[in-house]
Amino acid sequence: MKKMRTTYVVACLAAVALGLYAYATLHGQKKKGRRRLQCCLEINKKPQSRFKVVLADNSFSPFEHLKREGHKSENFSSLHPYEDQINALLQQPTFPQVTVVSSSGAYAWDSYIWVQTKSELESLAKLLSEEEIFAVDTEQHRLHSFLGFTALMQVSTLKKDYLVDTIALHDVMNILRPAFSNPCICKVFHGADNDVLWLQRDFHLYVVNLFDTKKACEVLSKPQKSLAYLLETYCGVTANKALQRADWRLRPLPEEMVQYACDDAHYLLYIAECLIKELRQKSTVNKCSYLEDAIRRSNMVTLQLYEKELEASPGDSAAASILWRFPGDGQDVPRKNHNVEKLVRQLCRWRDLMARTHDESLRCVLSDQSIWALATKVPKTEEDVYHTVVQADSKIDAFDTCASFPSPSPILFRHVKDVSCLLQEDINGLDNVFQAIVKQYSWASQNSLVMAYENSLQENLYLKLANKPLCQQNGGKLKEERRKALRELCVQKFSCKAPVYHNCRIYASDGRLLCYCDKKKLEWYLDRDLAKLVEDDPPAIMLLFEPKGRPEDEDNTFYIQSKKNMCVGCGEKSHYLRYRIIPSCYRLHFPEHLKSHRSHDIVLLCVDCHEVAHAAAEKYKKQIAVEFGIPLFVQKIQDSGDERSKLEKAQDEWKSKGGGVSPLQLRTAAMALLRHGSMMPSERREELTSVVKEYFGGREISERDLEAALLVGMSPQEKRRLKKKRGMFQKTATTTSTTTCDEIAAETSTAEEKIIIESNASNGLHLDESVNGNLPKNRSIHANSFSILNSTYIDGDGRTQCSDEMPMRDESVLGANELERPDVSQRQLNIVESSAGATRSSKHDRKLSLLGHGHHGRRVVEAIMSVEGEDGICEFCQRWRQVFVDAIHPRFLPAGWDVKHRGRREFGEYSVYNPVRNLPVH
Ligand code: AMP
Ligand code: MN
Ligand code: ZN
Repeated sequence: MKKMRTTYVVACLAAVALGLYAYATLHGQKKKGRRRLQCCLEINKKPQSRFKVVLADNSFSPFEHLKREGHKSENFSSLHPYEDQINALLQQPTFPQVTVVSSSGAYAWDSYIWVQTKSELESLAKLLSEEEIFAVDTEQHRLHSFLGFTALMQVSTLKKDYLVDTIALHDVMNILRPAFSNPCICKVFHGADNDVLWLQRDFHLYVVNLFDTKKACEVLSKPQKSLAYLLETYCGVTANKALQRADWRLRPLPEEMVQYACDDAHYLLYIAECLIKELRQKSTVNKCSYLEDAIRRSNMVTLQLYEKELEASPGDSAAASILWRFPGDGQDVPRKNHNVEKLVRQLCRWRDLMARTHDESLRCVLSDQSIWALATKVPKTEEDVYHTVVQADSKIDAFDTCASFPSPSPILFRHVKDVSCLLQEDINGLDNVFQAIVKQYSWASQNSLVMAYENSLQENLYLKLANKPLCQQNGGKLKEERRKALRELCVQKFSCKAPVYHNCRIYASDGRLLCYCDKKKLEWYLDRDLAKLVEDDPPAIMLLFEPKGRPEDEDNTFYIQSKKNMCVGCGEKSHYLRYRIIPSCYRLHFPEHLKSHRSHDIVLLCVDCHEVAHAAAEKYKKQIAVEFGIPLFVQKIQDSGDERSKLEKAQDEWKSKGGGVSPLQLRTAAMALLRHGSMMPSERREELTSVVKEYFGGREISERDLEAALLVGMSPQEKRRLKKKRGMFQKTATTTSTTTCDEIAAETSTAEEKIIIESNASNGLHLDESVNGNLPKNRSIHANSFSILNSTYIDGDGRTQCSDEMPMRDESVLGANELERPDVSQRQLNIVESSAGATRSSKHDRKLSLLGHGHHGRRVVEAIMSVEGEDGICEFCQRWRQVFVDAIHPRFLPAGWDVKHRGRREFGEYSVYNPVRNLPVH
């Protein structure tokens, strides 16, 4: 799951929606005289909530670095994507050339250029690519954000100063990547250690060829190394460093801050020139290259890679620090008080998770001082909690307390119940909850984290609120409001941020249109000199080689249709997300050439249509589970009451007898023989026949026996359903299914739960006890409190849809058309499965088995492949398209889209999709 591309989800999300509505309704309003709860209420006003590209989220999943196509970093997210270039610079340093025109002193800082639109940024990128050297600085916002984000970037060339609004341009900052990673262009920073990492964290920008004026100071053994000192010494400028900690999210930026920001980058080129001169001089005197040393040290900085700070137990290092710092002045508190220690840890852990889910800094949730005070004083009532916190915060040095720290914090207001519970009663219970969250979700996306967190807390703490009358009164309304809020958030967070279809064209050399595609694909061909650009806007290329076949020849006109960026269901244009018509749990296991390049079966839907389509697909999966006798979930049926179907009882009986043919095996074999017996390879047919024979005591079997075998161990109701289904599927097998939506609904709406059949022992699954115990529980919570998020966005195989819908890495920024590209998640899963060690692949397996229908999907696909081969897969796809059509009645499908689409596409020698070719970039 951590492999998912998206991992997109920003902190506040679901937690916020829930927190917002739950608390606003529950107690925000009932207590009089409280301050407005800005922090949570205004979460949607946080600028970062509008970021669509979130490379580092607040989850516990490790940061994924840029993967460069064709580079070894492609497969290892822990490698520096520009390692080679930087190493080359380390071995053979290039010397920066500065010829500064305007030197020290006053300059027209107010002639700076404010860069806030994409096209302005593109112009800047172009301009920078023609420079030999430019200076950079960034300003961060860290107060109302868990990991912090770059709020401003200053860039100065020898001619001009630029302020880049990195909030407005957050999602497209990768436009600057070529300039930043170009080893021929020197970037001057002062103290780049942090900036280098921040740029990676927020934008996947990697600095290659750095001159760090601070490193130069080190080499020159300057008495001070701060920028303020250099500004003062070389330029006679006094910087107001208090502004360093100003709120750089402000827009428009106050003049004072603009000047400060401009100063921070403007003088760097001049200072660099001065330092380089000094380094050269010192070199000639001492006969060793000081300049080279400074350059080498600078470039070493750029080799660093951003990493999230991940603790085995979140909050523990903060707790250790508090425990170490405070007892000294807390005279009356014995240092080794066991309970104090425990409470400090609990509070730190709570604070950590709160900060992550609300996307706030730790300080903004609860100060260290407050934690210490709460743990030592253990206030009893909520009012006492507030009092303790306010008192503790008032003692904090005025210098540290800035106006934006209301005390108690808005988050404490909202979640004071947690803190009370934590202090009063349920220390161990809470500990277990936290541990479970962290253990279970250490690899999970933000989304899962938020859910896990909310679910666990809801179960353990919030549930206490649920007993209060107020909650009961508002229950229904609350649900509805939550739903609305979640929908809104889903639209905001999960929908595609850029048009999905670029409608770029590829022509054959004879001028015939081959397909529409995304820009990235055009670039792929252009980079390899396999095509020439023939039109600019929208771009079109002409291939310089003869492609294998033409769409018309292959009856694939679908691929030469331009596609509209709208919901294919209802035509909604304001937002849309990708929907996979063939559920991933099956598609994942298709033969490679049948799943690459399947844009036909990925369409755009609005969140509402998405939800409907997804629900229908989930229902249909259950039907498939019955038809194939392959359970959706691997789950032991514990309940032995009368509700159990005869099939289950038969299974048990069979097991207790210690062997023979299981009803499942029997039914699967009989079904396959009935449907495809005549087409099967004889070997396979005999194998299946022998299974059925064994059941009938070894005698020869007839078609009627097969029919009878299908019904073994079924209740009358199940029998009825199966018969009906069989009729339906036989139709599907020959012509396009004519099943209507109602039929499907009728088929599946009853007794869905009974479809979960005990897994048969041969399916090779290994579920440990805790996993077995946890899954159903979590599922039921999800179903109740996250209907939108779950039904729509969490795919059955446990991959959040958002991961597919919203590529996070730079491809998405470039606007690559995911529809036209091989599924990256799948590629990554394959890598895990095929090349990684046993632990990783078993982890992967566990994820599949834990979270979804992965094993079901695999077995179904295997069954189809073994019986019918690829034709079966095509037919299977057709069935899913029909399910989709019946659920949505789409009115805006692209021309050429067809339920019966065969989707056979041959990939030529030069195709992007040809898995064997790995052409070097020229
Ligand atoms: P600078 O390198 O001076 O441009 O600082 C870059 C960013 O680092 C600022 O925008 C602040 O967010 C942060 N920063 C630097 N120094 C401090 C400090 N002493 N206290 C808080 N934040 C700081
Ligand atoms: Mn600065
Ligand atoms: Zn729609």
